[in-house]
Amino acid sequence: MKTSTTPVDIQKAATSKIENTDFNNLAFGQVFTDHMMICDYKDGAWQTPKIQPYGPLEMDPSARVFHYGQAVFEGMKAFKDEEDRIWLFRPEDNFERINKSSERLAIPAFPKEFFFAGLEELLKLEKDWIKKGFGNSLYIRPFVIATEAGVSAAPAKEYKFMIICSPAQAYYSGEVRVKFSEEYSRAADGGVGFAKAAGNYAAQFYPTNLAKDEGFQQIIWTDANTHEYLEEAGTMNIFFRVGDKLITAPTSDRILDGVTRKSIIALAKEFNIDLEVRRVSVKEIVEAAKSGDLKEIFGSGTATVINPIVGFGHAGKKYDLPKLEDSYAGFFKDKLTKIQYNQAADKFNWRYQVK
Ligand SMILES: *Cc1c(COP(=O)(O)O)cnc(C)c1O
Repeated sequence: MKTSTTPVDIQKAATSKIENTDFNNLAFGQVFTDHMMICDYKDGAWQTPKIQPYGPLEMDPSARVFHYGQAVFEGMKAFKDEEDRIWLFRPEDNFERINKSSERLAIPAFPKEFFFAGLEELLKLEKDWIKKGFGNSLYIRPFVIATEAGVSAAPAKEYKFMIICSPAQAYYSGEVRVKFSEEYSRAADGGVGFAKAAGNYAAQFYPTNLAKDEGFQQIIWTDANTHEYLEEAGTMNIFFRVGDKLITAPTSDRILDGVTRKSIIALAKEFNIDLEVRRVSVKEIVEAAKSGDLKEIFGSGTATVINPIVGFGHAGKKYDLPKLEDSYAGFFKDKLTKIQYNQAADKFNWRYQVK
């Protein structure tokens, strides 16, 4: 990647917040670094990317994003190894995915050179915010919003592509119990489920609150037509282990093509773990839970890498999963994080060094 050919206008912050940040007590996504990347789209083109001090935006109240939700985002992480080198994990996949999401929401594609030049300049400025050690990382949130003023229901002619960054620790979110959805749906055929479109997440808050009242932390969404097949969680793809076989649903226009998910699939092949990518029925999982064959359920996503699930609920019944010494969840978390932190060979060329 040649970044030198793409100019980025950099305006440095006068002071840094880093001295006042308690890196041992970081709530996920609450503290942001000193700078942000902004690139405006107007007159039919993306303008020169800028890096500015992190701060509020001023926008017209009629800006399209507030009314029609023309907004997409990404989630990625930067890691620091023992020699202070900075690494990203499969960033090209995030770049391609944000443009795929954008296309579905009629947002113009963002140029690859701008994405990498802006991101790398930003990370170089914020390098002290990336702490060494397993679990520490910098969470990176690229996003695009429609900024054009006017409430006509049509795609905007002006946008902002931005990147903000938040220091993150390995976070333990407590025991996660999931509800298999029986009534509400996250995504439909022909819809926007595959996109990281802002509205997909807003639509999950209400059903998730109802599930919380029943003692669950998250929902595993089922297919909208029949609610018979398990698809994915709100921000994670889902894997089931029945006996020693791993099963995960195929991606589709309803299911997000997670970078962590496809990395697990590649690692399963490398380590000869029996894995099937196919539809997973609620019925087979409930039966496997009853017979004791269901060993694990875990979620996969950039924020938590692997999120083990301790139990699930369906049709008014609750099921607990066994506690395993040698879980697949632990195995994949170890393999993936060692690659991310440059502590293991990178056979698949997933690491990307920020120089
Ligand atoms: C972001 C996300 C995932 C996980 O994707 P990763 O690329 O692994 O972070 C899974 N499902 C949904 C709905 C998501 O938004």
